[in-house]
Amino acid sequence: MIPPMIEAQKNRREILGGAAGAAAATLWPRAIRAQAAPRIVIVGGGFAGASCARALREADARLAITLVEAQHTYTAPPLSNGVLGGTRTLAQQQFGYDKIAAAGITVAIATATTVDAQAHSVTLSTGDKLRYDRLVVAPGIALRFDAIPGYSAAAAAQLPHAWTSDGTQIDLLRRQLEAMDDGGLVAIVAPVNPSRCPPGPYERASMIAHYLKTKKPRSKVVILDSKDTFTMQELFLKAWKELYPGLLEWKSLSSGGNVASIDIAKKTIETDFDNYTFAVANVIPPQIAGPIAKLAGVADRTGWCPIDPVTFESLQQKNIHVIGDAALAGAMPKSAFAGSVEGKLCAAAIAALLVDKKPAVPKLVSNCYSVVAPDYAISIAGVYHPVNGEYVDVEGSGGVSPLDAPAALRAQEAKFADAWFRTNTAEIFG
Ligand SMILES: Cc1cc2nc3c(=O)[nH]c(=O)nc-3n(C[C@H](O)[C@H](O)[C@H](O)COP(=O)(O)OP(=O)(O)OC[C@H]3O[C@@H](n4cnc5c(N)ncnc54)[C@H](O)[C@@H]3O)c2cc1C
Repeated sequence: MIPPMIEAQKNRREILGGAAGAAAATLWPRAIRAQAAPRIVIVGGGFAGASCARALREADARLAITLVEAQHTYTAPPLSNGVLGGTRTLAQQQFGYDKIAAAGITVAIATATTVDAQAHSVTLSTGDKLRYDRLVVAPGIALRFDAIPGYSAAAAAQLPHAWTSDGTQIDLLRRQLEAMDDGGLVAIVAPVNPSRCPPGPYERASMIAHYLKTKKPRSKVVILDSKDTFTMQELFLKAWKELYPGLLEWKSLSSGGNVASIDIAKKTIETDFDNYTFAVANVIPPQIAGPIAKLAGVADRTGWCPIDPVTFESLQQKNIHVIGDAALAGAMPKSAFAGSVEGKLCAAAIAALLVDKKPAVPKLVSNCYSVVAPDYAISIAGVYHPVNGEYVDVEGSGGVSPLDAPAALRAQEAKFADAWFRTNTAEIFG
């Protein structure tokens, strides 16, 4: 396995050193020199967009950077399953934008409603229009509410998805778990790929099982899955057998996990084979890139955004870059770890492009932890590089935690997960 912190720090030094050096040494092209400073607008202040804004600021103090974010408070999804397990508070997941503004980035709390790629402008819900030389689109995901009969955006107020950076959803799910009677069933509907954080639904099932085991031991969790396999499957199945025997059941696609419909009034979920009556249901629908991607013309027919893997520039619109979960980045997982590295790489590429330099071909690291119980975490790591226009695994790199490992290693990984979260969020939001 890769020591993630060291790789990330090495990456950061290489990226920022290179970008800052390039910008300081060279003048901008004539067209841009005519205006006060190149204008970079970033839509979306999550792991990808906010990280890109910080890296651009460090790369060149002269850039005029505006970060457009719809919410005053960002609720970070990584480790948020701990809120459901009772091991973390919602406050530990939440971050504001004051420090980003204090770093010299203009923060606009508003929704970007349209992009005019010809006129190089973004219109905000406030009515303001922002002109850009380069636009970075980092809106994360949109949930396909129409994909499951009986479920809808309105239904999420009763059957939370808790899958975005909207903190009210995770809070609602936590309150529903606290209010349910002992002996009830918690149903988790897991989405098809590609989706945000592939191990996330299984980490969530684990943390909910932990809560039930300690507070409501006659209750059960069932995962109704649209897939037959999932990431770190062997590790999860082994952990569940050890930690939550009889408490957590996984129904794969071929064993009847696929959800046909949901009846909210009757509190039932119908699958291909069975009917489940739930006390609490967490429905995670299939996903596409956030709506602004389509409006900007950077999403393709899949709903995701094809990019040049070196510059993260859209293959569909010039001068617009797409990073984070919204991007179609080949083998790269849709993770916060990857999104924040993409933010830095994209910043370095933009800094280079602004001075007519060729951006360096990147190598990209992702390391994703899943916390299965308070002192028990597992992880998957990967290193990726662009080949023939898309990210593929660097041969022989990456891997998952060992299947047979002493408790001390699992406990150490839980500490690493916490350390990664604290370091990364401090770097971006601190
Ligand atoms: C339960 C769960 C657990 C996870 N665990 C991990 C983990 O352990 N490790 C890991 O690496 N990853 C994890 N992830 C995945 C991680 O959260 C995502 O990959 C990451 O948040 C993606 O970052 P992003 O910036 O692309 O999108 P987001 O974090 O969703 O940020 C996008 C931001 O853009 C804003 N926005 C969208 N549209 C507009 C608009 N039009 N105008 C203005 N603002 C807009 C949104 O408000 C949002 O704040 C987890 C995810 C979940 C759901």
